[in-house]
Amino acid sequence: MIDWNSSGLSILEVSHRSPEFEAVVLKTQLLVRELLRVPDDYSVLFLQGGASTQFSMIPLNFLKTKGTYLDTGYFALKAIKEAKHYGHVAVAATSADKNYSYIPDVNLTEPGGDYLHCTSNNTIEGTEIFHFPQTDIPLFCDMSSDIFSRMINVRDFDLIYAGAQKNMGPAGMTLVIVKDELLKQVNKALPSMSDYRVYRDNQSMFNTPPVFSIYVAMLNLLWLKDQGGVEGIEQMNMRKARVLYTEIDRNPLFQGSAAIAHRSRMNVTFTTVDPAHEKDFLDFAEARGFVGISGYRSVGGFRASLYNALPLESVQALTAVMYEFQRYKYPLSAEIKEAQLIN
Ligand code: PMP
Repeated sequence: MIDWNSSGLSILEVSHRSPEFEAVVLKTQLLVRELLRVPDDYSVLFLQGGASTQFSMIPLNFLKTKGTYLDTGYFALKAIKEAKHYGHVAVAATSADKNYSYIPDVNLTEPGGDYLHCTSNNTIEGTEIFHFPQTDIPLFCDMSSDIFSRMINVRDFDLIYAGAQKNMGPAGMTLVIVKDELLKQVNKALPSMSDYRVYRDNQSMFNTPPVFSIYVAMLNLLWLKDQGGVEGIEQMNMRKARVLYTEIDRNPLFQGSAAIAHRSRMNVTFTTVDPAHEKDFLDFAEARGFVGISGYRSVGGFRASLYNALPLESVQALTAVMYEFQRYKYPLSAEIKEAQLIN
């Protein structure tokens, strides 16, 4: 921390224009390219302002006649609201009718507009897109909460963005992967800090980049490589999600919140079948060391986030507490259900 690479300087005090730090930016970009197999005709950019800044940067750069959006949850809706400041916005499909508990089908019957924006993982509601929409117009995706958790085909998208803070590194940096061809179509003057071309032309260093976030992201991506890359961690993520959903489905006291086909592997949302048990379980789990598993207020219940860094053992510990809770509430019920399963 205080003597980076034997330089006698901390990473926090080196100049971001020094060759040493430029090497860190380059290495981090190369790791992103390698881990996600980013084709050469896409740029990898590091921005600031979180994913929320992308909600306005996208329409600023690309909305000419109409931006089309999938409304699949809290953050998708925030992107829609922001885009409305810049032009006409169409919602191609929404799952608001069922509290965003599923991913709606998309049928682009009318001409789609300048782009279609989707959210690959709905962090709060616990749903995930496993089949991305097929469309002729550029597809943009907010991958903030599942990037690097599963393999995607970058070529299916024209622009991908993600706040770093789930699977990439500490908050402060936003990753953007954008097709160069798309940037050629931008032909208007924009504030420099909101112009993707400025980041691309300045190797993401038009101004002082989030040095420490990029550095830690580099270390984290090296760790990810050691886990067998995205393919390796994807297997582990599937396993972790399976363990937790299996217990939710087995345990008569709990139920999943999201439609089974759209259940997120990153954010598992569930409730107690009897609402009166909710507070009991929170206290019960907290007494056993589980904190922060309350669901977001619009969804209620519980949310367990299984990001890349979370080990399988933590998921197993949670399912053990859920089983223990069942036995505590209904001392005999666990045995009865097991006996039924055996018979
Ligand atoms: N989109 C998604 C899917 C998110 O999960 C989040 C935050 N968790 C955001 C956007 C907003 O990100 P930020 O706080 O980096 O602006």
